[in-house]
Amino acid sequence: MNFAFATIKELRTALRNKQLSYKELRDACLARFAQHDPTLESALELFDAQSIELPTNDDGILAGIPGIIKDNISQKDRKLTCASKILENYRALYDATAIARLKKEGALLVGRANMDEFAMGSSTETSAFAKTKNPWNLSRVPGGSSGGSAAAVAAGLVPWSLGSSTGGSVRQPAAFCGIVGFKPTYGLVSRYGLVAYASSLDQIGVCTRTVYDNALVLSAIAGKDARDSSTLDCAPQDFTQSLDGSIKPRLKIGIVENALHADGMHPEIVAAIESAIAVYERMGAEIVRLKLPTLDYSAATYFIISRAEAASNLARFDGVRYGVRDKNAQSLDALYSSTRSLGFGDEVKTRIMVGNYVLSAGHSGAFYDNAKKVQRLMRSEFADTFKKVDLLLMPTHPTPAFSFGAFDHDKLQMDLQDYFTCAANLAGIPAISLPCGFVSEGLPIGFQLVGPHVSEELLYQTAHAYEQQTAWHTMHPEGF
Ligand code: GLN
Repeated sequence: MNFAFATIKELRTALRNKQLSYKELRDACLARFAQHDPTLESALELFDAQSIELPTNDDGILAGIPGIIKDNISQKDRKLTCASKILENYRALYDATAIARLKKEGALLVGRANMDEFAMGSSTETSAFAKTKNPWNLSRVPGGSSGGSAAAVAAGLVPWSLGSSTGGSVRQPAAFCGIVGFKPTYGLVSRYGLVAYASSLDQIGVCTRTVYDNALVLSAIAGKDARDSSTLDCAPQDFTQSLDGSIKPRLKIGIVENALHADGMHPEIVAAIESAIAVYERMGAEIVRLKLPTLDYSAATYFIISRAEAASNLARFDGVRYGVRDKNAQSLDALYSSTRSLGFGDEVKTRIMVGNYVLSAGHSGAFYDNAKKVQRLMRSEFADTFKKVDLLLMPTHPTPAFSFGAFDHDKLQMDLQDYFTCAANLAGIPAISLPCGFVSEGLPIGFQLVGPHVSEELLYQTAHAYEQQTAWHTMHPEGF
């Protein structure tokens, strides 16, 4: 069987019918990484074959299915670097809850995926260790911060991966790489063992090439966890149940006009999304064009809240408790400052400084407190909107994957990458990005569906119905 680009669904059938053994699949996956990853650089580490445990029975829903994990999610005894020098040789002491659940379902965890340092970025360029390429065009970034997770799946090296999303880090790289990316409702997946960036926004998310596969992986990891008090009291659920190719009767989809026709939208992206809307119309959905005025403030709000929380969360990396330490420091203060100066990259340092500024006694009223007020307005605007429509549809990104270094001198443009995605994080609601075409240069386009709290089932059903009507998910980059 040709392993490349096989979906989880296909692999499970092949394993069940004994066309493929667990060992063959593991070795085929590692061989594909060995062949392609020296160029792609999606992984920071591939584990030694002998150290990747094969399932001892066929019971798990992911038995024998290989996947790769973003390097900010703890895998016991494996390195956990967050693509930062400050954690270069740090090893995780325990499994994240999501990892423990994947292992229980028999999943094969083959390595650690590259990312922006501490998940701060939109291109994976802030990684201290590698520049992951976009498989559709190696001169372009894969998006970020879960760029390694998205690139590995898009290049057909693994059928699934885990990423994390604080402002868009699963949907934006998924869209840039032409795959499916899901950010669950806040609290649906445990954050235990996920290194915190901005804890009130962080969620582990899933990258796959099909909606079915995505729903399957989320089913394995979702659910209440005594180790994360912010998890929701949800019973385990099989999110693949609702995927019958149809949409819900009388489905109402709200098109967010101030996003779709925002300044700077690439015209071919607008056209591709209008075609996706027409697909839903043909399936019988009612289309309601509307505006979400607070969306225009979401990037600024996200900027402030994420930096504030990052400054607090990253205070723990002080040279005493974790990772790298400057052994030549002559005093405790010198130890803190030289360790952090040496260990953190520029983007992380900038965010810590901005975070401390927006929380400082003189400025927290103007910045942090106001941002929290806007966040509350956004939440109530979403809640009101979901009284009128079932779901919202909008772009994932305004422009296609950009070249390396494109925004080195224009940080604002880089920060605006989160414009359409961070609202779902700020509101704590679920969202999925799906491939819906290509711009003429051959780079993928994604759109997102956003739903109310715990509407994952409806999101997956609606996304799956679109996927069954289109062929984008069957297209793969050349050369892999
Ligand atoms: N691009 C966003 C940022 O740089 C999102 C990051 C994320 O979701 N982890 O903060």
